[in-house]
Amino acid sequence: MDSLSMWEATAGERKQRPTLQGEQQCDVVVIGGGYTGLSTAYHLQEKGHKTVVLEKYHVGYGASGRNGGELLTGFQGTMETWAAKKGIETAKQMWQMSLDSIDITEKIIRENNIQCDFVRNGDIRPAYKLSHLDNFKREQEYMAKTFEFHELGVLDKYEIKSELNTDFYHGARTNERGAHYHPMKFARGLADLAEEKGAVIYEHSEALKIERNSKVIVTTKQGRVIADEVVVVTNAYAGNLHKTIKGSVVPVESIMIATEPLTEELMEELIPNNRAASDSKNLLYYFRRTADNRMAFGGSGRAFSKRDQLRLFDTLQSGMVEVFPQLKGAKVEYRWGGKVGFTQEMQPYIGQLQDGTHFAFGYCGRGAAMAVIAGKVLAQTIAHDDNVINPLKKEKLRPIPFHSQHAKAVGIMKFYKTWQDRYGS
Ligand SMILES: Cc1cc2nc3c(=O)[nH]c(=O)nc-3n(C[C@H](O)[C@H](O)[C@H](O)COP(=O)(O)OP(=O)(O)OC[C@H]3O[C@@H](n4cnc5c(N)ncnc54)[C@H](O)[C@@H]3O)c2cc1C
Repeated sequence: MDSLSMWEATAGERKQRPTLQGEQQCDVVVIGGGYTGLSTAYHLQEKGHKTVVLEKYHVGYGASGRNGGELLTGFQGTMETWAAKKGIETAKQMWQMSLDSIDITEKIIRENNIQCDFVRNGDIRPAYKLSHLDNFKREQEYMAKTFEFHELGVLDKYEIKSELNTDFYHGARTNERGAHYHPMKFARGLADLAEEKGAVIYEHSEALKIERNSKVIVTTKQGRVIADEVVVVTNAYAGNLHKTIKGSVVPVESIMIATEPLTEELMEELIPNNRAASDSKNLLYYFRRTADNRMAFGGSGRAFSKRDQLRLFDTLQSGMVEVFPQLKGAKVEYRWGGKVGFTQEMQPYIGQLQDGTHFAFGYCGRGAAMAVIAGKVLAQTIAHDDNVINPLKKEKLRPIPFHSQHAKAVGIMKFYKTWQDRYGS
C-alpha cells in the first residue's frame, strides 16, 4: 500500500523542508500536512495569524498525495437523504458548501497559478445497475425542484457512449460542476502558497504530545511549538496523539493503479469529455484520465493479508479491463493505496473540542475539495470571523464504540457490500 504512487512519481522533485529543532512560537500550530492542514495554514496567514505546520513525513504523504484527484459535489448518499436527516435548511447549506469547495479550490489554483493539471469538465457517475439509473432520474428531479440545481444530466445505456466508451454500465448521471487535478502537485502547490504567505512547514516532525497551560505546547522529537491555538488535522492517519480524534475516525483502505502513458487518441476514445468518473457500485470504482494520458483507476483496498493485498491489485486491474476491454494489453506501471477517513455519521466533522483543539476530518472519500474549504472554515473560526457558515459543525466528538475493532468491522462491511453489488437491487 505504501509503494510509490504514480502521483508522487510524476510530481517532479520533492522540495526538502526542515525538521523542527528547538523552540518555535506562533499563533496557531497545525498538525498534519495534507489539504486540510495546508489550507488552514494558508487561510490563517491571509488573516495575519502566524502559523506553523508539523507534518510527520512530508507534505502530501497521507491521502492528499495519493487520492484519485476527483473533485466531486455532495456527500455520501443523496441530498434527499441528507435533507431527511438534517432538515432542508442544513442540507441546502451542506450542498452549497460542496459547490463552494470546488469553486474555492479552483480560485486558489487559478489565482496563484498552481501547476496541477486542473481540469473542470464536470464529473460522471456511471450506473452499475439498471435500478441505479432510476435513482439518478429521481435525484435529478429532486435536485432541480428542491435545490434549484439544474446541472445534473442522466444518460441511458446508449447515450453514455458519448461520455464513456464502455458496455459495463447501464447509463450515468453527469454533473457539470466536478473537476479533477493531480493531487500531489496540488498538495505541494498549496504548501508553497502557504509558505509564500508566511507559514512555516516542518517535515519529518511528528507531533508527539499536546500540553496546555495558558498556551498550547506541542512537542516533537527534537523541538516544540508554543502557540495560542492547535489544529489537529491528521484524518485517517491519526495516531495516538489525540485519542478522541483518533477514536472518531474510521480509516478505510482504498487502492489505485495507473497504466503506462497511452495514446491521446485512445484516452479520448475511452473518456471523450475527460470527466472524473466514480461509479454507483457499493464497492465503487473511480477512474479518470491523467494529463500524461494514463488511466488512473481506483477501488476498495480492504485486505486480510499481504497475499490478499497483492490479489487486490490484480482484481482491480481485471475490473479496469472489464470496464474498458480496450485496456487489456495496457501495462500497469503503478500500484498504491491510502487511507480514507470515514465517520460514524458518514459526513465530515469540523469543530472544536472542549480542550480547545480544533479539528476537521472524515470526508468519506470526498475530501479533494472539501478539505480545502474545511481549512478555510477552521481559519475563519480561529480568527472569530462573524460570517462563518459551517453546516458540518460537530459540537462534541464521541469516539466510536469498539473503535479498535474497526478493521474487522470494515472487513465485514466489505463482504456485505460485495454481496449487495452481486445480488442486491
Ligand atoms: C486512494 C485514495 C483515493 C481517494 N480519492 C479521492 C477522490 O478522488 N476525491 C476525493 O474528494 N477524495 C478522495 N480521497 C480522500 C481525500 O484524499 C482525503 O479526504 C483528503 O486528502 C484528506 O486530507 P487531510 O489533509 O484531511 O488528510 P491527509 O492528507 O491524510 O493528511 C493527514 C496528514 O497528517 C499527518 N500526520 C498524522 N499524524 C501526525 C502527527 N502526529 N504529527 C504530524 N503529522 C501527522 C500524516 O502524515 C498526513 O500527511 C481519496 C483517498 C485515498 C486514500
